[in-house]
Amino acid sequence: MRTALVTGASRGIGAAIAAQLKADGCRVLTPSRAEMDLTSSDSIGKYLSTLNADVDILVNNAGINQVAKLDDIELANIINTLQVNLLAAFQITQWIAKGMKKRSYGRIVNISSVWSVVARSGRASYAMSKTAINGMTRSMAVELASYNILVNAVAPGYVLTDLTRQNNSPEEMEKIAQTIPARRFAAPEEIANLVSFLCAEKNTYLTGQTIVLDGGYSCL
Ligand code: NDP
Repeated sequence: MRTALVTGASRGIGAAIAAQLKADGCRVLTPSRAEMDLTSSDSIGKYLSTLNADVDILVNNAGINQVAKLDDIELANIINTLQVNLLAAFQITQWIAKGMKKRSYGRIVNISSVWSVVARSGRASYAMSKTAINGMTRSMAVELASYNILVNAVAPGYVLTDLTRQNNSPEEMEKIAQTIPARRFAAPEEIANLVSFLCAEKNTYLTGQTIVLDGGYSCL
């Protein structure tokens, strides 16, 4: 039985990924914010150093998106966003990849965003973090491929979660849906299906990619 670790699995996309990996037959570790607070490298270090499990699958899913226009962005927003969305994923991956290398097996998926490939106003700090995730994914993929460790990013478009509802009013969401070729938002389970494939043993060669999963939104 493979062991998976999924961050941010209390709700939204992370909860759907954890449920899908369980359905795939994995043992799934889902540290809560109280167990591993991604704003704190000490908290991350403590959780990892007490982790008594060989992790085969890592999904860096947890993320925040504090919307602010350029004139209003405070440095604290950028630092916080980079810490949670990027540096925490780096720290966790660096640790977990050591064990994966020893066992010559690993599947790592980083949850990026469509805002790493196209733009929306007010998303500068978020886009910085997610664009960096794509670069980190490629670099780690190149370094780890010969150990049978595959590293990919999934970049969702609009997904029906608390995060989307927090940053868009119901009226905005209705208008946005009409701008998506699929004419609807994604369900978290649709993101989880792709993550499931990338984390599976049947994925033997796909690595270093950022796969945009957005109902065609970024093609327009
Ligand atoms: P939600 O806001 O619904 O859930 C976020 C998850 O991350 C929660 O489990 C939350 O835990 C956890 N989290 C946030 N901050 C911390 C922290 N400091 N320490 C530990 N856990 C934390 O987000 P989504 O499900 O919508 O998003 C999941 C991922 O998908 C994110 O990386 C996001 O950027 C990305 N994404 C989402 C899109 C969307 O449309 N929703 C589109 C593109 C990408 P808690 O419950 O404790 O708050």
